[in-house]
Amino acid sequence: MDISIVIPLYNEAESLPELFKRIQAVMEQNGFSFEVIFVDDGSKDDSWQVITELKAAHPEVIRALKFRRNYGKSPALYCGFKKAEGDVVFTMDADLQDRPEELPEMYRMLKDGGYDLISGWKKKRYDSKISKNLPSKIYNATARKITGIKLHDMNCGLKAYRKDVVKNIEVYGEMHRYIPYLAKNAGYTKIGEKVVRHQKRKFGESKFGLSRFAHGYLDLMTLWFLSHFGKRPMHFFGLVGSLLFLLGFIAVVVLGAMKISMLNQGIPFRLITDISYFYLALTCILLGTQLFLAGFLAEMISRNASERNNYIIDQEL
Ligand code: UDP
Ligand code: MG
Repeated sequence: MDISIVIPLYNEAESLPELFKRIQAVMEQNGFSFEVIFVDDGSKDDSWQVITELKAAHPEVIRALKFRRNYGKSPALYCGFKKAEGDVVFTMDADLQDRPEELPEMYRMLKDGGYDLISGWKKKRYDSKISKNLPSKIYNATARKITGIKLHDMNCGLKAYRKDVVKNIEVYGEMHRYIPYLAKNAGYTKIGEKVVRHQKRKFGESKFGLSRFAHGYLDLMTLWFLSHFGKRPMHFFGLVGSLLFLLGFIAVVVLGAMKISMLNQGIPFRLITDISYFYLALTCILLGTQLFLAGFLAEMISRNASERNNYIIDQEL
């Protein structure tokens, strides 16, 4: 099969018939064999009803699953990826903001350019909320700096992947915002970008509010840390902890030595606890020990993590 299209959706009943019709038309015009995988993320409207009807009319190209409750976009993508069988796997939003008509060009770009992943770039956005445009620019600039991936629109819902990629990364929590980073960390570094036309939401409303910036920032930090020290936490905590401890220890020794030498010379000296440096030194020692311990505990946890020896073997003879 050429193409799998994974569509996570939450309360998008009105959009689905048109979405499917347009996908089908585009696929047939271009002679692709394809499947559409709808993942209903616990919708409370008629989405599942609509999907059931679509499935009855097109049993051979539609696959679908419904969550018991609303788990989120990442879990929906994760389950969709598990099911996907096409050589190229697309993800797109269900709300008709991503145009199915972009798919063939992205497919060709991925195949001919030898890319692992092509991300859409909504160069001109049509979001109802102004809160999306400027914050999203700042957010993307930060993400570019930290991830080292030169994408303008990291979180675009419309993306194309080689099948290999989606089978070897694990999207969880709210990490759908950073799939290119997950891919990069898994060794899929050929990441391209294609400008796509964005459209106004026809029905319903956006499911993500301002909280996504806070969540997105924290998740970015998590991923950065995981990719640098996830498998060797002691190299971070142990190092910083030891340095702090050493600093504090040396300071205390110096203070003690000063006091002893002053006393020896008969010069009156204040109590060590009256010197503010003492408390700074003490804090360093305590923090250092804490960090060292945190590193050690993290190391014990990662020794037992089930994925500690997950390596992607590309080829074997
Ligand atoms: N979505 C989902 N689960 C959620 C929230 C959203 O599956 O908990 C889907 C939603 O139905 C849509 C896609 O994720 O297909 C993108 O959501 P939305 O259009 O609300 O985001 P925006 O375009 O405003 O960033
Ligand atoms: Mg949308």
